Amino acid sequence: MAEPILPGPLAVRVRAPAKINLTLRVGRPRPDGFHPLATVYQAVSLYEEVTASPADPGVIEVRVTGEGAEQVPADDHNLAHRAARLLAYQIGEPLGVTLRIEKAVPVAAGLAGGSADAAATLVACSLLWGLGLDHQDLLPLAAELGSDVPFALLGGTAVGSGRGESVAPALARGNYHWVLAFADGGLPTPAVYRRYDELGPTPPDPFEVSAGLMNALRNGDAEQLGRELINDLQAPALDLMPSLRKLVEAAEEYRALGVVVSGSGPTVAFLVASQADAVDLTVALSASGLCRSARYVTGPVTGARVLPT
Ligand code: ATP
Repeated sequence: MAEPILPGPLAVRVRAPAKINLTLRVGRPRPDGFHPLATVYQAVSLYEEVTASPADPGVIEVRVTGEGAEQVPADDHNLAHRAARLLAYQIGEPLGVTLRIEKAVPVAAGLAGGSADAAATLVACSLLWGLGLDHQDLLPLAAELGSDVPFALLGGTAVGSGRGESVAPALARGNYHWVLAFADGGLPTPAVYRRYDELGPTPPDPFEVSAGLMNALRNGDAEQLGRELINDLQAPALDLMPSLRKLVEAAEEYRALGVVVSGSGPTVAFLVASQADAVDLTVALSASGLCRSARYVTGPVTGARVLPT
């Protein structure tokens, strides 16, 4: 059996952010079954942490703790496990790793927590195994693992196309204040897309992100951004989880600048003008009974980054 590549540090800790979609336009399914997307991602200050430490050659172990850990597979179905396996396969060595995932992002919430774990794992294993790969090198592997994984590496604010895996940084100014309202339970992404197809898609023509949204970001104009938030998966998500409707409708009462279901839901993201407004809204939503809990986050933040151990 080949010797593993020279080991790097004893343990590597990496964090990667959740994302919200400021816009998510969805086309009709392609022949390969994927829906084409025109989206703008923003990374927000809610982070997954993955710690990679050495294991015997060929052994990939996953341990999961934190928010919703009991709903997450710890076997080779875990996206972090798949990320480590794919990287080892690409290198062609029986590399081993123990991955400890500390989840803060709720599971199946439309915030791409699993994708953040995969992105963090690619960075952590590359360093642990002494491979010297940078984010640019890891992007193709990230795209193979899932539509949202490349963005979790990149972070910031970015335009996504293809099935979301093709990402380009957006010209964006400013810091935005968001309150995320977490629902009781998750929504499986495939079910939301199925419902979208059943409801009869009406993709925008031309199929692209609106100029208004890109202008708002370029100018750092939170009020305009609030008006431009849109998600084609919002209708099917509300259809599958009708309790979300009241939450979305509450935006007006709470005088949010805008509101949108994130990704395939069920998390609802409220954009507000200031930190003070965000704190007020977090308290109000937490007490409203309309959601399980609410959390203040800011965006944009950077993608997968190594932390001191
Ligand atoms: P997506 O839109 O990428 O489907 P999401 O953001 O709505 O995802 P995730 O929390 O990323 O939701 O996970 C979706 C499903 O993926 C979960 O139901 C879980 O079974 C599976 N999964 C695999 N690995 C992970 C992981 N590391 N963390 C969370 N879920 C994972």
